[in-house]
Amino acid sequence: MITHTGGCHCGRVRFEVLAPSKLEVSECNCSICSKAGYLHLIVPADRFRLLSGGEALTSYAFNTRTAKHLFCSVCGIKSFYVPRSHPDGFSVNARCLDPSTVEEVNITQFNGREWEQQYPKGRGEYTQG
Ligand SMILES: [Zn+2]
Repeated sequence: MITHTGGCHCGRVRFEVLAPSKLEVSECNCSICSKAGYLHLIVPADRFRLLSGGEALTSYAFNTRTAKHLFCSVCGIKSFYVPRSHPDGFSVNARCLDPSTVEEVNITQFNGREWEQQYPKGRGEYTQG
């Protein structure tokens, strides 16, 4: 486990996240992720820390409104959010990590269009670390 840093485009939102240097991420085909091209690195809350930019974050919610889709109100980039599958953790957008600490990114496809079938228990487990 190493500390990665990342953030939004304008630099207001900055965070650090504890994860391996070889990242296992998922690409979801649901209505919002497919439009954003979001790559999910899902971590428990204690492995994520917001360093700055909390005041710049805006939240968007739809459907069950469990997920808190957070994005920077200045540059519009969604660098992390609270996912429906892990409402007690965070999903970090692997595309928003500073590249220097990322050795490898392995992408797994996730069928979020059929979310209820993917998560029959109504939520996901933490797999990494
Ligand atoms: Zn920004």
